[in-house]
Amino acid sequence: MTNLNNIADIVSSLRTSYNSGKTRPLAWRKQQLEALVRMMEDNEAAFSAALKADLGKPDVEGFITDIAFVTSEVKAMIKNLKKWNKPQRVPTPIVAMPAKSQLIPEPLGVVLVIAPWNYPIQLLLVPAAGAIAAGNTVVMKPSEVSAETSALLAQLVPKYLDTSAVALVEGSVPETTALLDQHFNHIFYTGNGTVGRIVMAAAAKNLTPVTLELGGKSPVIVDASANIRVAARRVAWGKFINAGQTCVAPDYVLVDKTVEQPFIEQLKIALNDFYGSDPHVSDSYARIVSDRHFSRLTGLMKSGTAVIGGESNATDKYISPTVLTDVSLDSPIMHEEIFGPLLPIITVSNSDEAIRYVANHDHPLALYVFAEKQTVINDVLSRTTAGGVTVNGTILHLTSPHLPFGGVGESGMGGYHGISGVRLFQHMKPVLSRGTKLDPSIAYPPYTARKAKIFRKIL
Ligand code: NAD
Repeated sequence: MTNLNNIADIVSSLRTSYNSGKTRPLAWRKQQLEALVRMMEDNEAAFSAALKADLGKPDVEGFITDIAFVTSEVKAMIKNLKKWNKPQRVPTPIVAMPAKSQLIPEPLGVVLVIAPWNYPIQLLLVPAAGAIAAGNTVVMKPSEVSAETSALLAQLVPKYLDTSAVALVEGSVPETTALLDQHFNHIFYTGNGTVGRIVMAAAAKNLTPVTLELGGKSPVIVDASANIRVAARRVAWGKFINAGQTCVAPDYVLVDKTVEQPFIEQLKIALNDFYGSDPHVSDSYARIVSDRHFSRLTGLMKSGTAVIGGESNATDKYISPTVLTDVSLDSPIMHEEIFGPLLPIITVSNSDEAIRYVANHDHPLALYVFAEKQTVINDVLSRTTAGGVTVNGTILHLTSPHLPFGGVGESGMGGYHGISGVRLFQHMKPVLSRGTKLDPSIAYPPYTARKAKIFRKIL
């Protein structure tokens, strides 16, 4: 645990390092990013063990969604470091000619990254790497809820990275509050909207820009025209990976009533294929992170009838993949983000009703539509707003470095991954450079009738 009394000094020493210019050379950034990849590769087994201790994360899931996710994002940053940090030439308007115009990427200064517990490596290191690639110094604050992973990161980060420019603060609310009292040049927060508001209010005091990666209820619309077998498999995969503790997990399903039964039947088959007849003994199924979340989820389970699953075991914080029907839209499960392996199925008369329901609620972080009819897909896309969408699938839009990942409205602000994850931490400084050989006098006073005529022609 970081000593509370040291927090101001940690941030101030990163400010001194930033001001010294040491993070500006691309060579320094490349070296740090390479060290980050080495840290992941050298310690893969330790990271897997920490993820297992915190979340019962199956090794393969941990590898794909945390470990390899980080290395592939960071390797892309290394590969594109020069390109993404190169000044961009842009046109110059006639009034400013002759001149050259460019946008020069400039780091912001000292960046704070606050991460949650559900993908505790990825959600800390990918934004932190973006901040480094952009030339900033950075403070990382892992989640105290995923305590083993936090402790491991606290031990490894100073071993691999330049401690004068990259710091890790371990702790919970008091430490995060102390950090938020400091002056940063950008705060990148991933977590829930309540704390998101605390972060934004703290940032406002210093006019610090924020990126808020929040959550919410991400709906799935299953149209009557959908390929039901494929829809069920893809929904089951996206929902029950990490035992439903994924910000973009399908939260609930709005299914056309004519295909509800076949959809539930196919969910049963898919779950049996994925986790066998008793998911409790499956090596491929994770656990709930804490007792608090376990009891919250077992409470929410009472909001409907479990047509699949419904079992739980407090000793190892196990909740089986559970599908609920007879769920009232007024019940608690339809009013908070579920963030666990409970999937309410709500029937609708048609996709139009589903679209109206989604459009009348907070903008979700993700939206999924399953349909073979393009008109239905177009209708969903044009009448709803969401952070991101996968059509006929779940979760996968966030895996593309070419699609900025983030929310809108209640689900957050700002997007990252790929080049967006570097641009977030840069100011694209507009620079117009003029030569002195030519100095046309047209713009200078006195403003004669002739000059006015010329302006009317060219502007
Ligand atoms: P959490 O409890 O780990 O909190 C996140 C961070 O906020 C932690 O580092 C914690 O120390 C800090 N924190 C908590 N309370 C605080 C306070 N009062 N003041 C200052 N800092 C405080 O994680 P969580 O919020 O339970 O995470 C789950 C939420 O995150 C869900 O809503 C989920 O959808 C969302 N999420 C979003 C994304 C995304 O990329 N958009 C990814 C993962 C999770």
